[in-house]
Formats: sequence, C-alpha cells, structure tokens
Amino acid sequence: MRAIAFHDVNDFRIEEVEVPKIGFGEVLLKLKACGLCGTDIHKAIHKTVNPGTVLGHEYTGEIVKVGEGVTKFKIGDRVVGAIHVPCFTCHYCQRQHYTLCPEFRETNIDPGGFAEYIRLSEKHVRHLLFGIPDSMSYQHATLAEPVACCIHGQKAAEIRPGDNVLIMGAGPIGVIHGQLLKHKDVSNVMISDVSSYKLSKAKEFGIDYTVNIKNDSLKDVVDKVTDNQGVDIVIIAAGVSSLLPEAVQLLRRGGRVICFSPFEKYPEVTIDAGRFFKDEISIVGTYSVSPYEFEEAILNISNGTIDAEKMITHEMAIDQVGEAITFAASPDEEVMKVVIVD
Ligand SMILES: [Zn+2]
Ligand SMILES: [Zn+2]
Repeated sequence: MRAIAFHDVNDFRIEEVEVPKIGFGEVLLKLKACGLCGTDIHKAIHKTVNPGTVLGHEYTGEIVKVGEGVTKFKIGDRVVGAIHVPCFTCHYCQRQHYTLCPEFRETNIDPGGFAEYIRLSEKHVRHLLFGIPDSMSYQHATLAEPVACCIHGQKAAEIRPGDNVLIMGAGPIGVIHGQLLKHKDVSNVMISDVSSYKLSKAKEFGIDYTVNIKNDSLKDVVDKVTDNQGVDIVIIAAGVSSLLPEAVQLLRRGGRVICFSPFEKYPEVTIDAGRFFKDEISIVGTYSVSPYEFEEAILNISNGTIDAEKMITHEMAIDQVGEAITFAASPDEEVMKVVIVD
C-alpha cells in the first residue's frame, strides 16, 4: 500500500509499505479521507517529527478487517476516531487530565492518517472509535477531531452567557471556535487575523466582528465592543507566542486567556504579571482532546452547528500531501480546510 512519509521540509515521499497486520481486538481501516491539521503543517515546517513519520490524524475510513474479539464494529462500518488514547488509571487520568497521561502520546495509529490502510489498536477500537452517521460524508466527518479539540478547549474557558470572546487567528481552528461560540449564549464574538480571505470566511460563519490587524487596532475594536471593559475570554488559535502579551492586555478584570496553539518556536514572552493578583486574570493551556468530546463533535457537525461544507475548501489526493502542506501554510492562498482523499 502507499503511505506518505515526511523526510524533510518540502520532502514528502510516497512509499510502498506492507499493509499492517491486525491482532486481537484490532481493526484495519481503508482510509477514505484525512483532514490536514495545523499541527501537521507545524510538524512538517518546524521538523518536530523524525524522518519517515507518516503524519495525519483526522482520519475517517471503512472497516475492511476486524480482529478476533471485536464486537463493537463489523466489516463495512464507516468510522472516525482519535489518534491518542489515555490509560484511564494513572495519576493524570484519575484527575480527568487525560491529555497529560504518559500513555496518551505513546498510543498512535499505524502508520498514520496519510496512508491507504490504517491499523487501529485494541485500545483505540474499544475507547475512541465512533460510527459516522449515514447522512454524513467521510470528508465532513474528518472535522470531528478538530471540533472535539475545540470543545475540549472551550471547557477550560468556562464561558458564561453574555460573555464577549475574542479569537486570535481565523484559520480552521479559529473559525471552529467561532461557530461553537455562536451557538452558545455569548454576546459578541470577535476574530482577528492578517488574511482578509480567512476573515471573510469568518464573517460567513456569523462571527460578529472581524479585525484585520494589518489595518486596524484590535484594542480599539475590543474597547468599542466591550465599552472599554475588555473581553471576558481570549482564545489564541494561532501559533504565535507574541499574541499572549496582547491577549493579557485585552482581558477584562477576572478574564481568561486560553492558549490553544503550540508556542514552541519563541516560547519566551513577557506579560504583565501584575494582572494576576490585582485583576485576577488567568491563563490556561489546552491540548488535544479527551475521550468524552468526540460524540458531541459528531453531533455538532450533523446538526449544522459546524458548517462542514463551508469549512472544507479543498480536497487533494493522498500523493499530494507535500503540496497540500505548502499550499495550506501559505498566508497568501485562499484556503481554509484541506482534506486529503483517497
Ligand atoms: Zn488536528
Ligand atoms: Zn493515564
């Protein structure tokens, strides 16, 4: 079968590898669609994974083989699932901090989402594999993982009715956050970016205020919308750590910043730490997804809270993964979500 392996920046290779063999409790999927995630782009551009890695984790497919002992699924089932599975018993899991479980990042799909066939371990099959509703396409179902991650992040935000929320970054994650928020009782959702295309898409999703920070002052917009109070919540959905000091400035007293992006490139920033005590602000990090957000995400796609049709702007073939990453990473391209199809 074909698998697309990362070797270096701009060097993805189509490799011929063996179809994985499945064991007890496992299933083999024929890949149907896999979303290209911002973290795939980040890994490929900043070389944070080893050469030979098959990226892709927003996978959907049809089950073509089931191992002994599998009772939940059968051949022909259309499924979507997660890439990491927690152990449910460690110190972190007992405190519902599943994403920090040491086993979480050790569990992976084999070999990765950008491959013709994928083996799912017994743990994946048992805990984090879900049927796709008949009315939902494989492409639309690839959004379940990023939507579930955003649901996970918004739990940490503890959003209250009437809140004013600012999202920094109008890429796929930013506009998913925006759509989820527009279905809550929040007052105003603002979103900022440098791409006029992405901001115009954000408007289509009903986000109240779009701010192009190339031309406009975000602070002026926040002051106007919140009557100089500052925003209740800022969600940072762009991997730019210098956004954090600005987010802290834009918060109302008692407000909260949610960091939803890898800040690995320039991790050190200076923030106004005086605001913690006198203004009771908080900064919360959130990563990936727990086992309990997937079903809600699938529901949000099927009930239209997330407009999957509008989100997915491009479909590309599996042997175009390298081109897809360069294309989706370019700030000048008119692209929202790219889905790789086989
Ligand atoms: Zn993802
Ligand atoms: Zn654990």
